[in-house]
Amino acid sequence: MKFGTKAIHAGVEPDPSTGAIMTPIFQTSTYVQESPSKHKGYAYARGANPTRNQLQKNIAALENGKFGLCFSSGMGATDAVLRLLNPDDEVITSNDLYGGSYRLFTKVYERAGIKFHFIDLTNPENIVPLINKSTKLLWLETPSNPLMRIIDIEACVAIAKKHAIQIAVDNTFASPYLQNPLDLGADVVMHSVTKYLGGHSDVIMGALVVNDEQLYKDLAFIANSCGAVPGPQDCFLVLRGIKTLHLRMERHCFNGRKIAEYLQSHPKIGKVYWPGFENHPNHDIAKKQMKDFGGMLSFTLKDDRLEKAIAFMENVELFSLAESLGGVESLINHPASMTHASIPKEERLKNGLSDSLIRLSIGVEDIEDLIQDLENTLTKV
Ligand SMILES: *Cc1c(COP(=O)(O)O)cnc(C)c1O
Repeated sequence: MKFGTKAIHAGVEPDPSTGAIMTPIFQTSTYVQESPSKHKGYAYARGANPTRNQLQKNIAALENGKFGLCFSSGMGATDAVLRLLNPDDEVITSNDLYGGSYRLFTKVYERAGIKFHFIDLTNPENIVPLINKSTKLLWLETPSNPLMRIIDIEACVAIAKKHAIQIAVDNTFASPYLQNPLDLGADVVMHSVTKYLGGHSDVIMGALVVNDEQLYKDLAFIANSCGAVPGPQDCFLVLRGIKTLHLRMERHCFNGRKIAEYLQSHPKIGKVYWPGFENHPNHDIAKKQMKDFGGMLSFTLKDDRLEKAIAFMENVELFSLAESLGGVESLINHPASMTHASIPKEERLKNGLSDSLIRLSIGVEDIEDLIQDLENTLTKV
């Protein structure tokens, strides 16, 4: 089955008791059993829920994976992967990471005795000198947030596999429509479902997809033991959102390209970070591993003062100033004070994330209106 057909049909079946075409919201905490050791696959809803099951199967199919697991947030999903580790284990990850992941790694898991190496993974060779007996996990995020750097997944997999290191990819920015890390050899794909998969800015959720059955069992054990599972209403909303994922992504990519090109050619704009430009340092890798370049980009104004960037963000009208991304409506964000405020300033600046950087999550509105809004704003600031 092709992607759009899977988005609509994979994992979902009409309800056997009524024929309802849409997956019912099984709003129940428990299930009545025939006898103490006999039930219909459902005993208690932390462990399993039919609405959640259909969503998990659907997301797994979109990532060409065998097993999916949904969590109450993207961070919940990431946390489950880190719970596979033991004290003194080491993780190699990138220095251009979602702020919440950085916070979870440094503030929660370092305290639990896990060691993290934050490095520039756009050159996968940087991994090699850090590998030792304790290295257990390579955690990638590509495209990266907010600088839109691209990491070569296959090249990282080749190095990790040689040393039996597990490799997990945060695929939130690409969505399964643009990039499928399991096909490139990754062990785990993580999504903040909150973003493109949900797509309508109305749900917080996370997901993991894996192919290895033992790894799936270990993660399902953690999900049930630790309990960060989503409710059935949210699962229903995401199942509904995913049915248009391919259509939304086409428009996100179309609008993304138009806005990248518009900003690039505007005299008041400094630098535009978008992997679709041929002179983007990782353009060839983006072309190799992604179907298109997505709806996310960052930029600076030519007049690189913080107050100018703030004036820009206060003056746009169609772009709402808000955290998050991947919804149908366009958003504008100030990474330094919003999404990435949990990264210390020196770390941020060292990695190229300046105070004046502006990030756009380009929605699926009509492109003429979005560009007009940017044009009006640029005349004012
Ligand atoms: C939002 C986000 C997360 C965290 O997901 P939540 O659903 O907000 O917990 C992780 N990684 C990336 C790249 C994100 O954008």
